[in-house]
Amino acid sequence: MRKPLIAGNWKMFKTRQEAKEFLTELKPLCNDTSREVLLCVPFTALETAKKAVRGSKIKIGAQNMSWADEGAFTGDISAAMLLDIGVDYVIIGHSERRAMFGDTNQTVNNKLKQAIKNGLKPIVCVGETDAEKEAGKTQEVLYKQIIDGFDGLTEEEAAGTIVAYEPIWAIGTGKTATPELANNEIKFIRNKLGKRFSDKCANKIRILYGGSVKAANFASFMAMSDIDGGLVGGASLKAKEFAGIINYEK
Ligand code: 13P
Repeated sequence: MRKPLIAGNWKMFKTRQEAKEFLTELKPLCNDTSREVLLCVPFTALETAKKAVRGSKIKIGAQNMSWADEGAFTGDISAAMLLDIGVDYVIIGHSERRAMFGDTNQTVNNKLKQAIKNGLKPIVCVGETDAEKEAGKTQEVLYKQIIDGFDGLTEEEAAGTIVAYEPIWAIGTGKTATPELANNEIKFIRNKLGKRFSDKCANKIRILYGGSVKAANFASFMAMSDIDGGLVGGASLKAKEFAGIINYEK
């Protein structure tokens, strides 16, 4: 059985003080959960967040990282720097990084290998644009993102990854995919991972849905056969709303 993972992605929101306040409020609201809870916070709030979640099950992750060990890469953050703070998870290839900061399937692959080499758990984001969906190209796009993104990985390495299916047209738009559609694309992704690696491997990989998830709609996604959790943007910024997602009713 794959353990449900509820991951928040704060994007470029929250100062250290705001992060501390949020986590202090969230902690008692998810104490009893058997689900895995993760918050991917801005680099500047990582250390504060790590301290604030002590004594709870909440995990802290980063939203991006460099594919290089170190060097002249102004503004970038290395895996070693994240490990230094005690970060366990890192989001790789979020559609906003792909659209605005030049991430490609190739750089996603480089970053993914770098995360694995350093023992960080990667959450690899894939998803199609509105135009690609309208042109009937969703699965073609997903296939390429998966095959190129996971290039060169061993079966064991792939089994330790997490994938997030985030249709770009559903991000921050209030327009969610239907649970059936999300499940269908997630099944497609798992099937391709199974063909590329093995079914055993694909069955270990958690695949999350992301795009306008909120407390009111999350249970309907989690009721589907292949959806293993959520990657939550806007609704992860408010502790009560995020707790409502974590504590969704089965
Ligand atoms: P929203 O939940 O705000 O649509 O964002 C989704 C997302 O991009 C999470 O990574």
